[in-house]
Amino acid sequence: MKINRIATDILIIGTGSAGLWAGYRASELAPEAQITLVDKGPRDWGGLMTMAGGDFEAVLDPDTVDQWIQDFVYYFDGLCDQKLMEEILTRSRDRLADYERFGCEFFRMEDGKRKFVRQRGLDHVKLYPAQLKGRGGELMVKNLVSQLKQRKVQRLGRIMLTEFLQQDGQVCGALGFDAITGESYRFDARVVIAATGMGGWKTSYGKNTPTGETMQMAWEAGAVLQDMEFARVWNMPRLFGWEGQTVLMPLGARFVNRNGESFMERYSPVLGANTDPHYTTIAMAMEIRAGRGPITFDLSRIKQENLILLRPQNGWQKLNYDKLSALGLGLDLFRDSTEWVPQMTVSYGGMQATAWGETAVPGLLAAGTARATEPGVYAGGFALMSTSVLGHMAGEKAAELLQSLPRVTAECDEERHFASTFAPLGREGLTPKEVLTRIQSVVFPYDVSILKNEQALSRALKELVRIREEDVPAMAAADPHYLLKLIETKAVAFVSEMYVRASLERRETRAGHYREDYPTRNENDLAWLCLKRNGSDTDPEFYRVPVPLDEYRFPVTRYYQDNFNFSE
Ligand SMILES: Cc1cc2nc3c(=O)[nH]c(=O)nc-3n(C[C@H](O)[C@H](O)[C@H](O)COP(=O)(O)OP(=O)(O)OC[C@H]3O[C@@H](n4cnc5c(N)ncnc54)[C@H](O)[C@@H]3O)c2cc1C
Repeated sequence: MKINRIATDILIIGTGSAGLWAGYRASELAPEAQITLVDKGPRDWGGLMTMAGGDFEAVLDPDTVDQWIQDFVYYFDGLCDQKLMEEILTRSRDRLADYERFGCEFFRMEDGKRKFVRQRGLDHVKLYPAQLKGRGGELMVKNLVSQLKQRKVQRLGRIMLTEFLQQDGQVCGALGFDAITGESYRFDARVVIAATGMGGWKTSYGKNTPTGETMQMAWEAGAVLQDMEFARVWNMPRLFGWEGQTVLMPLGARFVNRNGESFMERYSPVLGANTDPHYTTIAMAMEIRAGRGPITFDLSRIKQENLILLRPQNGWQKLNYDKLSALGLGLDLFRDSTEWVPQMTVSYGGMQATAWGETAVPGLLAAGTARATEPGVYAGGFALMSTSVLGHMAGEKAAELLQSLPRVTAECDEERHFASTFAPLGREGLTPKEVLTRIQSVVFPYDVSILKNEQALSRALKELVRIREEDVPAMAAADPHYLLKLIETKAVAFVSEMYVRASLERRETRAGHYREDYPTRNENDLAWLCLKRNGSDTDPEFYRVPVPLDEYRFPVTRYYQDNFNFSE
C-alpha cells in the first residue's frame, strides 16, 4: 500500500482564520521550521472566513479592556474565563492593525472616523464593519494567504485527517486521505495544532464543513471537551441563506409575529429586538407554539444612510440578493417582509485549552472555534477577533514547544488503520445524507434545541445511541468524496450525542442554554461542564470546573438573562 509521508515540524490542521493566523505567527517566530497547513477543503480556501462579512471586534480607544471584560462577564451570565478574555481583548487591537497593514479595509465615515456598531445592548462591545459588504472575509483570507506564500509555508488542500498519531501519550502527527484521489497520507510532526472549527449540523448558516471530527479524534486521544451543551440556534430566512443580522438588529431591524407585533419588547422591555439571537429564537419558538407564527423580519425602520452597510456589493450574498430580487422571486429583503425561522447551526463546544491552546494532551494545541470559548451567546465580530488572536497565540506556543517537546515517532499499524478507514468504500449501505437527516430530525425539534426539557432530551439521547450503534456502522461510500462525508456524519452523530448528554447534565438555565423545566439559574452551578472519555465512547464522564471568581478581578454582579421573562 502506497502511503504519502510528510515530515514536518508543525502540523496545522485547518486553514480557516485560526489556522492561517497560527501559520503566520509560527513562521514569523520559527523561520527555519517546516510548517505544514492541511485542510479537507480546497487549498487556501480560508474556512468559514471566506464567506464572512469581515466585521471585527477590537478594543480601540477610548474603550478599555477592563470595560469589555465586564461586558462579557455580564453577557455570559458569569461563565466567562476572565483571564482568557483578557488575553483575547488585549491583543485584538494588534490583529486589527495587522489586517489593515495586509491591505484589509474597515468602514470609515466621511469624516474619516471608524464606523462601529454596538452589540446586543452591551455598554462597550462593538464591531467594526468591513469596508466592502459581502467581501470582507474573503479579502482577509487572500491577504493572510499571501503572507504565508511569501514565507513559503507549505499548504495542502483536499486532505481529510481522521486520526492523531500518538506515542507515549504525546500527539506527534496525523493520518488521513485525499478526498478526491483516495491516496493515503501520514504526517509526522513535533507539534500539532487543531484549528478545525466547530461541530455542527450542516445547515445553511452553519455551512457544510464544521462537523467536529477532530473533536472526536481529540476526545479519543484523551483531550477534555467543554461547553458541549451550547449550540448556536440562530434566526435565518426560511427560503434562502443570509447573514448580517448582528448589524441589522442594532440599526433598527425587528421580528414581528402574525399579529404584526414586535414581540421581543414583551419578552424583554429593556433590550427589545436588539439582543442576542439565542434569546430571539427562544421567543420565536414561544410565539409559534402559542399560535402567533409565522415570524417575519421587518427592515423598514433602518435608515437609508445605513443601507450601504447592509446591501451586499459582492460575494455569495449578492448572488442571493440578485437572484431573489431582479432575476427571480421579485423579493427585496430591504423592502418586503420575509419569513424567518430558528435554525440550529453549529456547536459551541470544543476542546478545553489554555489561552495558548494547550490541551490535556501533550503535543496537541487547539485554536479558534475548535476550542471552547463562549457559553452559547455570540456578539457579532467576536469570531474573527477571537480566532485571529487565538490562532496567533497557538502559533507562538507551537514555535516555543519546538525547543522543549521531545521528538517522537508513533508506532502505528498503518495497514490496519487504512483498511478500517477505507472499509465503507464500495460496499452497500446507508448514505451519509440519510444518516445526517435522521440525526437532524432528532436534534432539531424545538424541545431538544431551544426550549429543552428532560423528557425530550432523554428521548433524543435514546435515538442518538441507536443511530451510533446501528446506522453509523451501516453507512457506505461510493468514492473518497463520500467517504469524507461519511466520516463527517459520524462526527455529527458524536457531537449531537455529547450535546444532548451535556444538555441533560446542566439542570439550570444560563447564557445560551435554556431548560424549560429548570428556567432559572442555579447559583451553585457557576461552573464549566467538562467531559472526558471514560474507557469507552458510550460512557463519557462529566465533571464541573467551578468558575474561579476568587482568582478573577471582576465579580459577577449582573446577568444578561435577567433582562428576559419567558413565562407565557
Ligand atoms: C456566512 C458567515 C458570515 C460570518 N461573518 C462573520 C463576521 O462578519 N464576523 C465574525 O467575527 N465572524 C463571522 N462569521 C464567523 C467566522 O467566520 C467563523 O466563526 C470563523 O472564521 C471560524 O474560524 P476557525 O478557523 O475557527 O474555523 P473554520 O473557519 O471552520 O476553519 C476550520 C477549517 O478546518 C478544516 N477542517 C475541519 N476538519 C478537518 C479535518 N478533519 N481534516 C482537515 N481539515 C479539516 C475545515 O475545512 C476548515 O477550513 C461568519 C460565519 C459565516 C458562516
